[in-house]
Amino acid sequence: MSTVFDFNGAPGTGWSQPDPIREITNTEIPESLRRKKKPGWPRASEPELVRHYTRLSQRNFGIDTGFYPLGSCTMKHNPRVNEKIVQIPGIDRIHPLQEESQVQGLLSIYYEMQEMLAVCSGMDSVTLQPVAGAQGEFTAIRCIQEYHNNRGEGQRDKVIVPDSAHGTNPASASMCGYEIIEIPSGEDGRLDIEALKSAVGEDTAAMMITNPSTLGLFETNITEASRIVHEAGGQMYYDGANFNAIIGKTDPGRMGFDAVHYNLHKTFSQPHGGGGPGSGPIGVKSHLADFLPTPIASRRASSDDDSVGVGDGYWYFWEDVGEKSIGKVQQWNGNAGAVVRAWAFYRRYGRDLVKMSEHAVLNSNYLRHKIMNPDREVAKRIHCMPSEGAKTDLVMHEFTLSMSPVKNLNGVTGKDVAKRLLDYGYMSPTLYFPQIVPECLMIEPTETESKEVLDKFASDLHEVLSEDPEMLTSAPHTTPVKRVDEVWAARQLILRHPGESGE
Ligand SMILES: *Cc1c(COP(=O)(O)O)cnc(C)c1O
Repeated sequence: MSTVFDFNGAPGTGWSQPDPIREITNTEIPESLRRKKKPGWPRASEPELVRHYTRLSQRNFGIDTGFYPLGSCTMKHNPRVNEKIVQIPGIDRIHPLQEESQVQGLLSIYYEMQEMLAVCSGMDSVTLQPVAGAQGEFTAIRCIQEYHNNRGEGQRDKVIVPDSAHGTNPASASMCGYEIIEIPSGEDGRLDIEALKSAVGEDTAAMMITNPSTLGLFETNITEASRIVHEAGGQMYYDGANFNAIIGKTDPGRMGFDAVHYNLHKTFSQPHGGGGPGSGPIGVKSHLADFLPTPIASRRASSDDDSVGVGDGYWYFWEDVGEKSIGKVQQWNGNAGAVVRAWAFYRRYGRDLVKMSEHAVLNSNYLRHKIMNPDREVAKRIHCMPSEGAKTDLVMHEFTLSMSPVKNLNGVTGKDVAKRLLDYGYMSPTLYFPQIVPECLMIEPTETESKEVLDKFASDLHEVLSEDPEMLTSAPHTTPVKRVDEVWAARQLILRHPGESGE
């Protein structure tokens, strides 16, 4: 073995690679594609390298450094025990092509996860294949599309979404070739049933909606909406990103949905800032099950098939669902690591999983009332959404606030407030989404924060709103990177390392 660690900091030795890949020895790579000279990659000793990455990690914001109330993203604490579990050799040292007899542990975790999700959502079949919520949406909408095609109803070419929907909903439907019909929200921020009635027809393939909505409001008319869409021959799709609010209380099956995706990385914790890694399983009612991608974990009692010789226990295996399947959407079996972490998370709650949602909703209502505290004059600089009259309403796991009053008062925008919160050691709430709320801040505290953290956040937000406007419009002041010119950053994106010649 050629280990080349040199702790004395000799240049270029802070890494260890097997010899053959240091030089291009493969003559099959065409001359024209080979580098003319060695890349000018930085060289550093191990301690230098450790410092480099540690420094970078400290320049970033994460749930481990502070409160992360990023609405809709469910940035809850990631229990460290999950990382231990996912690193058990029987889980992280196996290969997707290994014999089923050798991976019974992982298969049983998959099976249990599928069952748990099916029970909690009121669905009949679950696949853990998709690796993001958005991919789950695409997968389920494709299943719905095949369902219609199989019934000779391929003319259904429209998908209905409310105007408060996450952008991935119309994007996924559009990737399947559907035309999007957007319907406006009613006065109270909820689904407008009359608007839905006039939107459905013989061309309706599905309606995609999340409940509670991105305004943190429970759609009380949801079963009525399901009836309207079903009567028109369409299917109901549940965007499960807000599942954290309802587990154990109600479920999409009861609300009349036919298909749902779950964001395991949100609801069941998972480090997922910056876009990954995630897992977006989908669940469907039995009439859509034939179209699911394969494989799915299955089990049978060993007595049914003694050839496997597992005694009296159960035997787990990968099952192909058959010819109508839309095919694979992901290599192998999805993001196994994410599935195992999510499984570890929910197993620690067990039957008490409902407490997770209860505390998430409690924290959200508590924080909203703390912020809108009528005894604080400065709270008048915030508009309580969806209307002033809604102040005493209950919200679900998240809520939106409009910074319009403070903007009218002294020109400070929602963005300025968000930037200034960074100086106080918080991640900014979700900004300007949903778009139907002017100067929107969307806040989701999650169940893993204490009362003290929520109290401090509310009082810091009041502090921010009472500061000199100039303090806010030029914020952030204490972060490694100050306010960026977003247009410039997008148009002049620099992705090359300075040492990279380009050849
Ligand atoms: C996060 C989110 C999605 C998309 O999920 P990803 O895992 O990010 O692809 C869809 N809808 C809502 C409401 C979300 O918050």
